[in-house]
Amino acid sequence: MQRCDVAVIGGGPAGAAAAILAARRGLSVAVFERGTPGRDKVCGEYVSAEALPLLQGLVPGLAAAAPAIDSAVWISARGRRAAFHLPHPARGISRLKLDAALWEAAGAAGAVLHSRTAVTAYRAAAPGAELDTGAGTYHARHIVLAAGRWWRLPGLAAAAPAPSAWVGVKARLAGLAPSSAVEMFVFRGGYCGLAPVENGWTNACCLIHREAAGALSDSGDFSAWITAAAAHPALAERLRPGRQATATVVTAPVMMGAHAAVRAGALLTGDAAGFVDPFTGDGLARALLSAQLAVRHLDRPEAYAAALRRAGGRSFRVGAALRWLMQAPPWLQEGALRGLARPRWAGPLVAATRWRTL
Ligand SMILES: Cc1cc2nc3c(=O)[nH]c(=O)nc-3n(C[C@H](O)[C@H](O)[C@H](O)COP(=O)(O)OP(=O)(O)OC[C@H]3O[C@@H](n4cnc5c(N)ncnc54)[C@H](O)[C@@H]3O)c2cc1C
Repeated sequence: MQRCDVAVIGGGPAGAAAAILAARRGLSVAVFERGTPGRDKVCGEYVSAEALPLLQGLVPGLAAAAPAIDSAVWISARGRRAAFHLPHPARGISRLKLDAALWEAAGAAGAVLHSRTAVTAYRAAAPGAELDTGAGTYHARHIVLAAGRWWRLPGLAAAAPAPSAWVGVKARLAGLAPSSAVEMFVFRGGYCGLAPVENGWTNACCLIHREAAGALSDSGDFSAWITAAAAHPALAERLRPGRQATATVVTAPVMMGAHAAVRAGALLTGDAAGFVDPFTGDGLARALLSAQLAVRHLDRPEAYAAALRRAGGRSFRVGAALRWLMQAPPWLQEGALRGLARPRWAGPLVAATRWRTL
């Protein structure tokens, strides 16, 4: 049996951030990632302002070198636009780059990294727990579970998420006119967000209802597929000069909502603790900030759970209301989005979707 102070299950942004912060506190840390770290994932790649101070501490310089995003624009299927300045600029960073940099920083901080190594069973063993992993059995005093929104682990009861018909699809395009805005092309049945990332690429990511998605097997040519599925002429026009730079990635189902923060002594972080509607662009901030909170409260699970609840605030409810709008007829979408983009509403709306920094 191998031993460590902290075992982290999952090597995405939440897991890597927890590993960095715990290792910097002088704790012995082992991270288990069942896949290849830094592989591509479905994500809008919009790193909200709330994430940036912590990200700077985790991987200095990464965000500063990334394209800045200073405004948001919503474009309806009939081509009406509603734009507003973001209260604080965000950054566009590909998941290829972000996840790889965080993983590497976890190793540099002293965490022992196990890639392509799944955790397959959990046994509470006060203090802490035992884990069966592809690298043998481990005992850890503290467990941080950062296994994303679909986690399942024998020995640890997972939440039963509400069924969902939402699908996430993304690809990066080269050759599009540069923009410092996050552009949200909204249509009945979903949206497609464009964000600038490194290499002059534009990340195109959509959340789409299964009924509107058509044949997902056709999404290998992202532009052709979304043009057919969204029936959004302004989006088709925007994507026309681009050439696909990275392969299409699909994830389904996308289940949204808050989950438990603590299970049998394990602290849940990032998407494992709750998935906010991606329209808000706050998932990565939550992944990093919940990891920070978990490491601060390793010895006090109840305090962690209470802090996580407070930090979530109204964001899950507000996110759900925005998702409802994605299913509304165009005239209603346009009216609502035009109203919400007014300076008087845009700031409070963005704030209401955000993790409340504690
Ligand atoms: C369509 C869409 C668009 C989005 N757009 C944005 C956006 O623009 N901005 C934003 O901030 N957020 C966005 N998000 C949300 C963001 O992608 C997530 O919040 C973020 O990935 C959460 O990170 P995480 O580390 O919690 O989970 P993940 O990145 O999912 O990492 C979890 C890791 O755990 C590993 N794992 C799982 N089980 C095990 C096991 N048993 N053993 C070992 N490893 C395991 C998995 O392989 C995975 O690598 C979007 C999400 C979707 C679906």
